[in-house]
Amino acid sequence: MWLDTKEWLQYTKGANMGDLTQNFDLEEYACKCGCGVADIKQELAVKVQQVRDLVGRSITINSGVRCARHNGNIGASETSSHIGGWAADLGYKGSGERYQLLNAAFQIFDRVGIAKNFIHVDVDANKTAGVVWIYS
Ligand SMILES: [Zn+2]
Repeated sequence: MWLDTKEWLQYTKGANMGDLTQNFDLEEYACKCGCGVADIKQELAVKVQQVRDLVGRSITINSGVRCARHNGNIGASETSSHIGGWAADLGYKGSGERYQLLNAAFQIFDRVGIAKNFIHVDVDANKTAGVVWIYS
């Protein structure tokens, strides 16, 4: 799964659209507060791209990396995987897109959270694998 640096650069720079992976720019994963923090983990970005490849349409990153302050400001858990760049919230609209996104996410990720307008996915090895949770 892991690419060496040369392979990673080819994966990212050989692509035709995004500057991080084929369809995503690093900016899309940057902290939404505007602080500039954008240290997203490679493993996550590669897997999100794989989900995007499976669904075959654009996906909005509602939240990628978060600085601790922004994470606190939005009331998220202090142990959120977003802080370390291990997580992304993938936006969707409606039950059809939810189905597509979940179907793809379950093939790629083993930690999935379901919210009304996004699917959380992460690669946080310090948390339990093989889980799905629902945001109430
Ligand atoms: Zn921030």
